[in-house]
Amino acid sequence: MVINIIEKYTERADFMLKDNLHQVQQNIKAACDRAHRNYSDVTLIAVSKTKPVEMLSEIYDEGIREFGENKVQEMCEKMEVMPKDIHWHMIGHLQTNKVKYIVGKTSLIHSVDSLHLAKEIQKQAIKHDCSCDILVEVNIAGEESKFGTSQDEAISLVEEIAKLDHIHIKGLMTIAPFVDDPEDNRQYFRDIKQLSVDIAQKNIDNVSMNVLSMGMTGDYTVAIEEGATMVRVGTGIFGERDYSNAN
Ligand SMILES: *Cc1c(COP(=O)(O)O)cnc(C)c1O
Repeated sequence: MVINIIEKYTERADFMLKDNLHQVQQNIKAACDRAHRNYSDVTLIAVSKTKPVEMLSEIYDEGIREFGENKVQEMCEKMEVMPKDIHWHMIGHLQTNKVKYIVGKTSLIHSVDSLHLAKEIQKQAIKHDCSCDILVEVNIAGEESKFGTSQDEAISLVEEIAKLDHIHIKGLMTIAPFVDDPEDNRQYFRDIKQLSVDIAQKNIDNVSMNVLSMGMTGDYTVAIEEGATMVRVGTGIFGERDYSNAN
């Protein structure tokens, strides 16, 4: 099993992952200092999609326990072989027919953007006799290419999902536009932070807004300055992804 997965995600690193990791952690610390925030309030999620378990193990050995994946099958395969104390984060667009494979196994689903999907998560959570923590994904810049509910519809979606008693909404997630200058995303991060404050003030039953999942390799320090509590960093830790032999 281990061998299969290593062969499947074959690309190898020619650098020390732990050096990358420590650099990212230092950058997070510096951003926390600038924003007068506690380092412990920001969780680094190592986004390991397309990378072999060998590479995940390398940073597991450095103490990382939060891993993010965007494909159900890949996540499940890696779960099988990696240590059981890892918290797995589903960060990619989730099809309803795949929900059954991950409910009860993921620590947080970041990418819930419709009531339809939430209802399937509820159904599977009942079946597995568990509850499921989720974030509502907001398409903060209104980009056509991106999943996520619109800023305008976010509150009513949260209110609807809140009625599903096997789901707990923990906060919001966004994928900001791909930009050269991370400063260009600062306003979007401010907007979603404000949205989460607005939702929190409504005191909706079964909803907390403690988690704000935003910021990727290109912009995580700006995201932290604007209130991110989870940053999702892939390239900055594992290097560029190679999709050339993706199936
Ligand atoms: C791939 C991915 C990331 C990580 O992107 P990097 O730019 O490599 O850090 C973060 N969030 C989501 C939703 C992703 O799909």
